[in-house]
Amino acid sequence: MRAPGSDELLTVWERGLGEKSAARGLALLGLVRPDMSVDAIAELSIGARDSMLLDLRELLFGRRILGLMECPACDDTVEIEVATGDLRAVPLHEPTEISWATYDLSLRLIDSRDLMAAEGARPEERGQVLLERCISSARLSGEPTPISRLPGEVIEAVEDRIAALDPQADVQLALSCPACGRRWHAAFDILSFLWTELGEWAARTLRDVHQLAAAYGWSERDILALSPVRRRHYLGMLDAWPAS
Ligand SMILES: [Zn+2]
Repeated sequence: MRAPGSDELLTVWERGLGEKSAARGLALLGLVRPDMSVDAIAELSIGARDSMLLDLRELLFGRRILGLMECPACDDTVEIEVATGDLRAVPLHEPTEISWATYDLSLRLIDSRDLMAAEGARPEERGQVLLERCISSARLSGEPTPISRLPGEVIEAVEDRIAALDPQADVQLALSCPACGRRWHAAFDILSFLWTELGEWAARTLRDVHQLAAAYGWSERDILALSPVRRRHYLGMLDAWPAS
């Protein structure tokens, strides 16, 4: 994974503002994995994609993850601190075929193309879109059967199998509230977390560009080409300058 320059990262962030979540993930990974084609990244399972996004998060902002969450019982704010290493999941080696009563199904794992198709559908249809795409064949007593007619138990078995095969796609944090003792689980989505952090980084970076450009007359391109260390030093000198 290559470290992206500030200029490139800002460009991906800016373009991503007008895009949905799955496309943002592809753009971020496309930037730092030039050795992989866009199609190859889009075909990664969501767990494999999220594992790479964790790598990217470590590269950009380190291994420590801090966050705030509201306790569902007492509404108190709970601080969360985890290491990226604790968010890594190990896939189970289970077959991609499922048999349930007289039903026989073949599956494939959900990837970014599937998520993009689901994001383009109406919210109430998204689950069905994902099922239609990741169940490659469904048979009832040996005859093909429509996925829309599968019973709830079969759908549940499909979802459980996909979760076991690709656990990195659904990371759950075990949380507890120091104020009231309530324990609960919350989903951690590395893509939305990283995207939020990237937005905060972009705001800080653009503010730095503004200050340096205003003081020295340098171009945005030249300021972004400075290493973060040099930028901090010049900004520190500006702070030390007495205001006229
Ligand atoms: Zn509480």
